Amino acid sequence: MFDSPEIAAFRAEVRDFVRAHLPEDLRATVRAGQQATQDQTRRWYAILARQGWLVPHWPIEAGGLGWDAARRLAFDEEMAVSHAPEMNSITFDMIGPVLIRFGSPAQKARFLPAIAAGEEHWCQGYSEPNAGSDLASLKTRAVRAGDHYVVNGSKIWTSGAQYSDWIFCLARTDPEAKAQEGISFLLIDMKTPGITVRPIRGIHGWEVFNEVFFDEVAVPLANLVGEEHRGWTIAKSLLEFERLKLARVGENKRRMARAREIGWREQEHGEPLMRRPWFRKRFAELQMRLMALEANTARFLERATQGLPIGAEVSMLKLRGSQLVQLWEALTVDALGPAALPFDASAVRGDVPTLPLPELAATASSRRFLSRGYTIAGGSSEIQHNILAKQVLGL
Ligand SMILES: Cc1cc2nc3c(=O)[nH]c(=O)nc-3n(C[C@H](O)[C@H](O)[C@H](O)COP(=O)(O)OP(=O)(O)OC[C@H]3O[C@@H](n4cnc5c(N)ncnc54)[C@H](O)[C@@H]3O)c2cc1C
Repeated sequence: MFDSPEIAAFRAEVRDFVRAHLPEDLRATVRAGQQATQDQTRRWYAILARQGWLVPHWPIEAGGLGWDAARRLAFDEEMAVSHAPEMNSITFDMIGPVLIRFGSPAQKARFLPAIAAGEEHWCQGYSEPNAGSDLASLKTRAVRAGDHYVVNGSKIWTSGAQYSDWIFCLARTDPEAKAQEGISFLLIDMKTPGITVRPIRGIHGWEVFNEVFFDEVAVPLANLVGEEHRGWTIAKSLLEFERLKLARVGENKRRMARAREIGWREQEHGEPLMRRPWFRKRFAELQMRLMALEANTARFLERATQGLPIGAEVSMLKLRGSQLVQLWEALTVDALGPAALPFDASAVRGDVPTLPLPELAATASSRRFLSRGYTIAGGSSEIQHNILAKQVLGL
């Protein structure tokens, strides 16, 4: 809607590519709202890597295509509406750019090519049982011992840890320093002895995140990124990479398409829900919110493209984008009514549903529950409100 002719043409190119190359089983899985398996996702990453589209936003000298934010967001959006699986943002948008900016030449040479080829996957070890919003109170310790650190402690809510090859981790290297100052940023091989991963099964039936325990884990000093005790600056820089993405415009469009499909299919009093006032009103409200989100994202993009600072206002994209995901999922569950209630474990796993439910119903409640996490992960809504109140409104 807000595209330049160049971006509009690029979108068409992405759609054509996905139509031609996305494996049918994977498209069906994502369309049905199921979680893609690791095997499916890695197959898709290999296809994208061959096209150079796994890390296109990285600079050319680092193995990317140097895409700007406008092109990258258009790409993500087209992927989402075409039912391609979500990209592993932690790997491609977080640790990759961190290594490009702060990594040593040896770290870049070791890790970047494997990420760009889709061969190694990462998870993010920030949160701990008593350190989430207040991340600086983290307690995991890393103590120097010769040519390595010995790491002890635990992380929680670590998304995808059970499938990851590496974890980037914040650990306290100076317990005497002020909270933010004694923290270091470490790269840890998940196969190192002393690491235990315990998946956490959510109310939605999926094992999205994990507890990760470190018991006398030896990490080479060469795996420290940047300076010792100065990891906080690096930790915070990650957030910059994802700020614009968090509007989730593409994901919201995918959910709108799902709600529309259900709205025309499900009947009430002999007519499709799309013709019933309660559904029509809610659908229109959410559609307008989505248009406003898209317009706002375009506004921030314009600033980013002109090289202007984005500013703390960008928190509104995260706030609104995540709330909107929840509202679409709630509308879908309400539209499906009792059909959305049964918990069909096989459908949630990605197998053929065992219950005779209408299409898109078997995972509707799971998706609704999963969406609860959107207003917590990446900085909760309350934290976004605080940022907007203090830094934007000056309250
Ligand atoms: C789906 C999902 C995936 C995640 N993946 C990862 C991951 O891969 N790696 C990782 O490290 N972490 C991950 N997290 C953890 C996430 O970063 C934390 O959950 C988040 O930072 C909140 O921390 P917390 O859960 O400890 O809640 P708390 O910080 O304890 O917050 C509890 C409640 O208090 C509110 N609150 C806290 N502080 C304030 C304040 N100052 N003012 C007003 N209200 C406040 C919060 O908004 C919340 O409602 C994930 C979380 C989710 C939901």
